[in-house]
Order: sequence, then structure tokens, then C-alpha cells
Amino acid sequence: MMKAGRQTTLGDRTAVSGIGVHSGLPVTLTLHPADAGTGVVFLRGGTDGQPDREFHASAGSVTATELATVLGDASGPGVSTIEHIMAALCGLGVDNAIVELDGPEAPIMDGSAAPFVAAIDQVGVVTLAAPRRYTKVLKVVRVAMGDAYGELRPHQHGFRVEVDIDFAHPQIGRQSLALDVEPSTFRREIARARTFGFMRDVAKLWSAGYALGASLENTLVVTDSRVLNPDGLRFPDEFVRHKMLDAIGDLALAGAPILGAYRSVRGGHKLNHAVLCALVADPTAWTVVEERSPRPRRHADVPAGLVAPAYGADVS
Ligand SMILES: [Zn+2]
Repeated sequence: MMKAGRQTTLGDRTAVSGIGVHSGLPVTLTLHPADAGTGVVFLRGGTDGQPDREFHASAGSVTATELATVLGDASGPGVSTIEHIMAALCGLGVDNAIVELDGPEAPIMDGSAAPFVAAIDQVGVVTLAAPRRYTKVLKVVRVAMGDAYGELRPHQHGFRVEVDIDFAHPQIGRQSLALDVEPSTFRREIARARTFGFMRDVAKLWSAGYALGASLENTLVVTDSRVLNPDGLRFPDEFVRHKMLDAIGDLALAGAPILGAYRSVRGGHKLNHAVLCALVADPTAWTVVEERSPRPRRHADVPAGLVAPAYGADVS
């Protein structure tokens, strides 16, 4: 049972196995509980006698954002395609976890976050003693890239994400979605939305070493005229929902849940990362706050029935 205002972790160890969508390599992802204050740490098991490598899930660990988000360090990339497991952890409110991988890329599973949500649900989310800390956005931070832009802005309660996409493609076109991200909305609206790709890009991707594991089992494949997957779409606007899933996962690299709103227009991993880096680089744009346990309020303070989270004094 989760208690408001406290940090969380997993009830026990849980694992999923699959293949990497870009590498095509088999991999097992094991989620371990972790102490308060750990955040999310990726652990890449050693191969060929090499020691294990650890990567803190933070903006500073990102080494690439081409088609997927990659964490690494000075000795090179370490773990790839981390955005969907990060989205599942963030979406379900898991603050602390060790994500162990025995290969270079997280498994793509069915292309969505739903298999990770199911794995987490098997062991549950438990509350720790320490108060939850948040990254609170204090002012607008905006990054433009060509005709795309992304911005973080202050927001009164929780984490809100707004995504607009605009593909000159009859199956997609313009789609918009705005959501207050909470475990219930994440499960219902976002977790099941799958990765998508265009048939016309496949040869180019393969020759560049990408999408080697992609198939109709894990990717919505769009031709010039239709969606190839025999069962069709899970949502009429599954494309924008997946873009939101990616944005939630990429912004989870803030290191602590964001109190703020994020808007992405025609964006992707590169833009999400650039906006987060712009936030982190400006110490006047954010602060760390702790959430206090809800306390009784007099009726004069708050309208009846309104339960507002109370955020404590800034600690940085
Ligand atoms: Zn994705």
C-alpha cells in the first residue's frame, strides 16, 4: 500500500525476458528493490570477465538519443532503450529500483510499457520511511529544434504532460494528448501504447544497425497506406500515446519526480533530453522539495472535499 508523501520501491525482485528492438539480442531485465535515496540505477552485468557497470538514471548519464535513449559513461554506452522501463517506473510511482540487464539493451517486449507494469504488479509497490523528494519546476524552460519544441513550466499539482505530433502521413496526421500523470491514468491511457515505425525507413535503419529486432510482435509498422499489424491499433491515437510514454520515460531522468508540466510539439527523445538538460543547467529554474504527509486543514483553508498535497520547505 502506497502512502502519500513517502518514497517507494518494489515489494520484491521481478524479471522479464525478451530481445532488444535495435540490437536483436536476447536479454533478461531484473528489477530489484532499492533503499530510499537510491533513485533508479541500471546495472549492466559483466561480460567476458569485465566488471559490472552502474549507470544512475539521470540526464547526465545519457550518451545518445538517436531513436532510443542510451545511458553510459566515459568508457562508452552501457544500456540502451531505457525509456519504456523508465516510463513504467515513473508512471507507477516507483522512486527507487535497481534495473539489472544481462545484455546491452532493455527488452522491447510488445513495444509498450505494459509488460513492465505487469511485472511490477506481480511484486507490488511498497512505501519506505523517507519523504519523497521532487524536482519542482520554477520557471519556463524552452528548447526549439527546427519546427519542434519542448518546454517545462511550473504546474500547481503533480506532473502534467502534453504532446502534439504532426506526421504527414494518412495513418497518423495530427494528434494531441494532455494527461495528468498518475498511476491510474498511466495504466489506462499510456502503458499499452506501442512503439511505431515506418516501412519506408526499414532498409535505412537496418543498414545503420538499428531495428534489427523489430517485428510486428513489438512495433506498429506503418506503410504509406496502412498499419501492417494484423490486429490493428490498441487506441485510435496510439501514436501520440506512445510519444507521451517516451516523454514520461525520458523526463524520469530528472532523478526525482517532476512537479511541473511538460509540453512536446513534434518532439522525440533528443528534444526531451535537451529540455531536461536545459532545466538542470539553470539552477534558478528548479529546486528540490519534499512532500509532507497530509495534515488536517481547517475548512476555512480549503474547500470541502478538496485534498491538496502539501509540499514542504525547499531543500536543495
Ligand atoms: Zn518508445
